[in-house]
Amino acid sequence: MFTETIFGPIHSRRLGTSLGVNLSPTDGKVCSFDCLYCEAGFNAQGAGTSGLPAASRVAELLENRLSAMAAAGERLDVITFSGNGEPTVHPDFPEIIGDTLRLRDKYFPDVKVSVLTNSTMLGSPRVVEALRRVDNCILKLDSAIDSSIRKLDRPVNPAFTAEKVIGQLADFGPQGIIQTMICRGDGFDNTTEAEVNALIEAYRRIAPRLIMLYSIDRPTPDTSLRRVDAETLRSIADRITAATGIPVQTA
Ligand code: SF4
Repeated sequence: MFTETIFGPIHSRRLGTSLGVNLSPTDGKVCSFDCLYCEAGFNAQGAGTSGLPAASRVAELLENRLSAMAAAGERLDVITFSGNGEPTVHPDFPEIIGDTLRLRDKYFPDVKVSVLTNSTMLGSPRVVEALRRVDNCILKLDSAIDSSIRKLDRPVNPAFTAEKVIGQLADFGPQGIIQTMICRGDGFDNTTEAEVNALIEAYRRIAPRLIMLYSIDRPTPDTSLRRVDAETLRSIADRITAATGIPVQTA
């Protein structure tokens, strides 16, 4: 659970030195998924009492932090939207992205802006337009099989389907980076032939510029989930690249 709107900087294996932006409450969780592995815990904990931060407050806090870091000569590689839920469900997400890009240009023009999203808001043109403005739009696709996504990611909206999101990801196209959690647990294993073949088919349709495969590296709210070792991740990655020509990073 992140207890601040602007947090870090933290060192991320995949992104480098990263200043985090949490557009969810600082004492609860708001997400359109309820993943078994979520570092913020299950949605059942509730949304807390702090509410979503106002866009003006996010800009103020971010400017305070960036100006202090710039004055101190601190290193920064990336500003990353993640936190206690899904950033794109914030009603002012597009405005907040605009403010963030402006502040980035003012204080750290070489720093990237990344958004980690669960892809559930790709039906919103204004969210898609905002996501297209950032340097690294990292979109979740944990399985291409509907029943598996329902088990691992537990979408809140019953109308969510793998087929629909894969179509939206394909429309988003090569600007996107697809991130896939590979793990095993009770009733779930996306290292199987059927899962990997379905993912390969989906990646082929989506044609992202990069795929990131990762596994669990911290305790998860569902304790049945198990980490997949680096060797297995690498061999799945090699299969994907051989079949699609898309580079795959593993962590
Ligand atoms: S999409 Fe992200 S924030 Fe939402 S439940 Fe899954 S891991 Fe947690």
